[in-house]
Parts: sequence; C-alpha cells; structure tokens
Amino acid sequence: FGPEYVRAIAPYQGGKPIAEVAREFGLDEAKIIKLASNENPLGMPESARLAMQQAVADIGRYPDANGFDLKAAITAKYDVPAEWITLGNGSNDILELAAHAFVQPGQAVMYSQYSFLVYALAAQAIGARAIVVKAKDYGHDLEAMAQAITDDTRLIFIANPNNPTGTFIPAAELEAFLGRVPPQVVVVLDEAYNEYLPAELQYDAIAWVRQYPNLLVSRTMSKAYGLAGLRIGFGIAQPAVTDLLNRIRQPFNVNSLAQAAAVAALNDKEFLQRSAQINAEGYRQFTQTFDELGLEYVPSFGNFVLVKVGDDEAAGARVNLALLKQGIIVRPVANYGLPQWLRITIGLPHENAAFIEALKKLLA
Ligand code: PMP
Repeated sequence: FGPEYVRAIAPYQGGKPIAEVAREFGLDEAKIIKLASNENPLGMPESARLAMQQAVADIGRYPDANGFDLKAAITAKYDVPAEWITLGNGSNDILELAAHAFVQPGQAVMYSQYSFLVYALAAQAIGARAIVVKAKDYGHDLEAMAQAITDDTRLIFIANPNNPTGTFIPAAELEAFLGRVPPQVVVVLDEAYNEYLPAELQYDAIAWVRQYPNLLVSRTMSKAYGLAGLRIGFGIAQPAVTDLLNRIRQPFNVNSLAQAAAVAALNDKEFLQRSAQINAEGYRQFTQTFDELGLEYVPSFGNFVLVKVGDDEAAGARVNLALLKQGIIVRPVANYGLPQWLRITIGLPHENAAFIEALKKLLA
C-alpha cells in the first residue's frame, strides 16, 4: 500500500523499554538502568504531579483545544502573544506540523548530517526531497547550509544543542545564518535542550522571532522539565507561521493532564535549576571517565554524551549488547551513521557510576 516515499521510511527506533530488556536478558526490572532516551533522571517535578492530580477530576471532558492556561503561562514566561504559540503533542508534533504546513511533495527540506532523526522522517512522510548537509565537527555547518539552499527549499531544521551529538551553535553564528535565509524558507530552530545551556551561552531566540517572520522556535517539556511521558512541546513564531500550524494540527493534540502539568512545570524554577545542576555534575562524571579511558567523545551541551567505543563498524552494537547484558540501556546510533559511537543520557550519580563501572569492566 501507499506511495513509494512512505514505504521507504525506516521506522524510528527509540530507547529499549526497561520491561523488554528485563525479559530479553532475564534481569530484574528494578535493577535496570536506562540512560537511553535523554529523559530527566529526576522524573517529573512534584509541582506537576500535584497539578495533574487536580486535573484528573475533569478527565471526562475534552482538553482545552486552544490551551488557554498553558498559552498564558508561556506568554508570561517568554513575553510573546498567545497568537504566536502552537502547542504540540511533544515537540515532534511541531516538527511534523511544520513539514506538513510549509512543504509540498517534491520540494526540499534541509537538515544537517548527524542531526535529529525526526527531521528526516518528517520530510520523508510528506514526500519531500531531503538536502542533508555534511556535518562539521559533528555539528551543523551553517556556512555549507546557507550555500546549499535551493529555489525549492521550503524548510530548514536546526537543532541547538543538537541530538545525538550534543554540539552547540553560538548565538552570533545562528543570527548571521538567519539573515542569509530567503524569506520564503521557514527555519525551525529546535531548542529541545535549551534549558541545559549555562547562562553565558543563552541567547534571545524570541527576539529573533520578532525580527524574522520565517523563524519557528520549538521547545519541549520532555527533557529538563521531566514530562516526556505526557508528550508536550510548543512552537513560537509570528502569526503567518503559527496560523498555518494551528489550522492543520489536531484540535485536541495536547491532553488535559499534560496541559495542567506543563503550566506547573514552566513555573517551577527550582526544579529546572536542580535538573541543570545534576546534569552538569553527571557530565563531569562521564567526561572525566572518558578522558581517563582515552575514549573520544563530542563535548556536549545537552543531557547526554556521544562517545566513541571502538574503531570498527560493529563497536557500538557490540558494546551496547554487552551493556544490556549488565542491565544498562544506552542508545546505539548506527542509524545516524555513527556505528562506532554510543549516546549515553546523563543520569543520577549512582546511575552514571553503574554505567561507568560496566564500561570499565568491558574495556578492561
Ligand atoms: N528535538 C530534539 C533535538 C530531540 O532530541 C527530541 C527528543 N529526542 C525532540 C525534538 C522531541 O522531543 P519531544 O517530542 O519529546 O518533545
């Protein structure tokens, strides 16, 4: 069935679920450590749990299709009008909506080599032509991307920081790039890991949204906010972009528990700080170990690290399997074209330590 471009899609491979690994390897579920999906090791904020518990009383009703309260919380936090906000069922929803809204089959969607896989999936699902620009030092090569824009390019995805490599594009470079993109091309600036950036690297993407009508900034509640299971993200863009996204999204794409939890989480500064702090500590724990072991890694600005675990093409798969047998789930990235590498999500100190111990045992 279906068009050739749909049949050609390779399914998205998420992190292996804990229950599946327990069954497959005969392990105790409670002892398994999952560092595979860039989830927040603190789980969800308590404030969000309480908000959700209250929202359960109304679960017999449809969610607010326009997300009034949540948009008000986003408006207050980012100083943008509600008309500039699109709510998504995870930020993946925003990425897909952008492909559907702005690109016709056969037109081009651009993204970087080694950038988030959903960009390729979103492009393929609508029969677009992908322009994949070669990475530079495992990150975006904005100069090459600017030069590769064609007359039929309609959408450019940029992840900052990027997944799975963790690379970061400094604000000045991004701003210069935006100035070079023709006005008919929508740029999605995917900031899924923005909250992990130290203060000195933060930049004002919302100011760029005010300046560029073709810029869509995408954020998620799945990472630093600890709400991955609820599926909630949002896009911020001027009405010319936002209107179209809102016309094609499903009316009730964000459920009522997610909306309630997101309002609470957005206002929970303390949780966000704790998340960033535990992440910074875990990052040091990992990179010190990798330095000690002489393993190459890509300096990361997200809540994960990409590390090279061998020189042969089977290294990632081999080390991944050996870790699974010890009850540690990480993410192989061969499907990103990185078969010698693994992506490890930063966890709690004892989880990181368990991974480190297992890795040392393997490489000894
Ligand atoms: N963008 C990037 C760069 C990501 O890494 C992820 C999560 N893996 C997402 C978007 C999507 O996250 P979600 O749909 O949970 O918001």
